[in-house]
Amino acid sequence: MQAIANIQTPFSQKFAIPRQGNGLSIAKGKIKFLPHIDVMQALDGIDAFSHLWILFVFHDNLAQGYKSKVRPPRLGGNKKMGVFATRSTFRPNAIGMSLVKNLGFEDKELHVSGVDLLNNTPILDIKPYLPYADIENTAQAGYAEEKPTTSLKVNFADSVYDTLDRLSTQHADYLPLLVSVLEQDPRPAYKQQQADNKVYHLALYNSDVHWQVLANQNNSNSQAPSIL
Ligand code: SAM
Repeated sequence: MQAIANIQTPFSQKFAIPRQGNGLSIAKGKIKFLPHIDVMQALDGIDAFSHLWILFVFHDNLAQGYKSKVRPPRLGGNKKMGVFATRSTFRPNAIGMSLVKNLGFEDKELHVSGVDLLNNTPILDIKPYLPYADIENTAQAGYAEEKPTTSLKVNFADSVYDTLDRLSTQHADYLPLLVSVLEQDPRPAYKQQQADNKVYHLALYNSDVHWQVLANQNNSNSQAPSIL
């Protein structure tokens, strides 16, 4: 198989990318097709579909191979499951699939939202999402039945407001995207629900975001990220 395109996304590092794209609908991606694809022909009719399946390569993990049993983050990282019972990125064939919203085709690029992909991920295929075939009302989802609901309160240190303004000028979606990423608590599952003193880093576009989860006065968690 040969990639048909690469996708540009705001996520320049794996840490803090949402674990499923539709959990973060504002994260946008631009699919840039490779020269061997005749885009005008191959995308004809795609504008009639609001949502698309994207099949892609977990290219950043290829060197690490896979294990038959993995620890899904949903289980707190301390219980193992068979790799085929998970959406692990370490698979015998490192293929991922994400449901995205079709924002339209412009200048030979396909714009989508709801992405959970690393910047420059190679795309293998694009298919329309077909509600009549893809929705299964009787489906059961084992340990992943419920949508994750973590929602932390995000506060910014006073010293970062100028930087936030500059980055928002460069990328109109910067601030809402950063807040959404942090609200979901990107830390490993076993650390969620509690404050800690560690300073974490995440990369969004060309910025390196430093953030911490602190206990606030109401005894619930809040984050005070600061940006370098
Ligand atoms: N929705 C897809 C699926 O179900 O196949 C991906 C789910 S996977 C759990 C999502 C994670 O994949 C993200 O949080 C990110 O860390 C990782 N990821 C995204 N793009 C990647 C890439 N190109 N190479 C390796 N890991 C990647």
